Amino acid sequence: MPENSFQSKATADYLFRNNTPDPLLSGPALPTFKFALEASAGRVDSGSFGKEATVEQLPISKGIAGVSMRLEPGVTRELHWHATAAEWAMVLAGRCRTTLVDPHGNSETDDFEPGDVWYFPRGHAHSIECLGDEPVHFILIFDNGYFSEFGTFSITDWLGHVPKELLAKNFGLPADAFVGIPAGEVYFTHGPRPPASPMPPLQGAGHTCATRHKYRLLAEEPHSVHNGGREWRLGADKFPISQTMTGVVLDLEPGALRELHWHPTSDEWQYVVSGDVSVTMFGSHGRFRTESLSGGDVGYIPQGYGHSIENVGATTARMLIAFNTGAYAAIDLSQWIAGNPAYLLADHFGKPPEFFDGLPKQDVFIAPGSPGLTKP
Ligand code: MN
Ligand code: MN
Repeated sequence: MPENSFQSKATADYLFRNNTPDPLLSGPALPTFKFALEASAGRVDSGSFGKEATVEQLPISKGIAGVSMRLEPGVTRELHWHATAAEWAMVLAGRCRTTLVDPHGNSETDDFEPGDVWYFPRGHAHSIECLGDEPVHFILIFDNGYFSEFGTFSITDWLGHVPKELLAKNFGLPADAFVGIPAGEVYFTHGPRPPASPMPPLQGAGHTCATRHKYRLLAEEPHSVHNGGREWRLGADKFPISQTMTGVVLDLEPGALRELHWHPTSDEWQYVVSGDVSVTMFGSHGRFRTESLSGGDVGYIPQGYGHSIENVGATTARMLIAFNTGAYAAIDLSQWIAGNPAYLLADHFGKPPEFFDGLPKQDVFIAPGSPGLTKP
């Protein structure tokens, strides 16, 4: 497919991947699908940091990128927008406050605790303040692996490069009014602790968004509970603003397995919050690869590729997983098998039809570490 100036590189890659083989995924062996995010250097400002997993760090991750961000008390990720991606986030520790402004001129301020999620549509303006006396740590996930380079626009970077006379005319102030503002991107601003309760915006409190950008995911019961683990799942059905992304928190007990499956309509981005897992990936043509992921590591499964996740550690493993679709879809191996007649399966595997009577008749989803204990 020819690339032209009217088409972003991300769009070109997406079309390329869905019509003809992606060069990265069409070699004799599968590329790595692991990146040690928390072990990477990232962008550091004393105790605050932003560490990225984009196509730069993890080339396979073209559809989804992620950032681990920590803000110290008094630090704010400055006002900005993302030209090429929507932003989904979950807080892991501490508290923070976001202020979003949408294209209708509405603004919404929300305070977040661990387990809370936000979603900001592509291009909508926002900022993130640390609240209280403890640092806040959150994971940001973007529905474009190219979100960062040339895709994130900060207010100080912009206004530092606009002529002062133009700013003065824009705001109806004297020409020297903007002398002294930063000449380049600040990224992390430093100041006093924010007020305990949100303050109304300059335009007054009357402009509030119709659709909420916050969802308290871990404050509710899991989406499904299994012998061996549980899953919280949040898509556009429950969180209407999140039209392009679905988020999952997956807990696996020691030995438990998120069974072999694939996602017909989306890529999968994985972040290990805690524990040790073994992730397998099948890429057709006999290509199979296994990666070991531990706390702070990122994994990535392209759309349609077979995969599984097994807890190989001694403690419960928790993973934060995101899909670049608001409508989650998966086909699990157990359900695929159970949806076919025994005689058909027998011919594939060289087993008598009776063999398949012993297989599950419904979706397994999570298999426990000690399957013998689950038999009635
Ligand atoms: Mn952002
Ligand atoms: Mn999956």
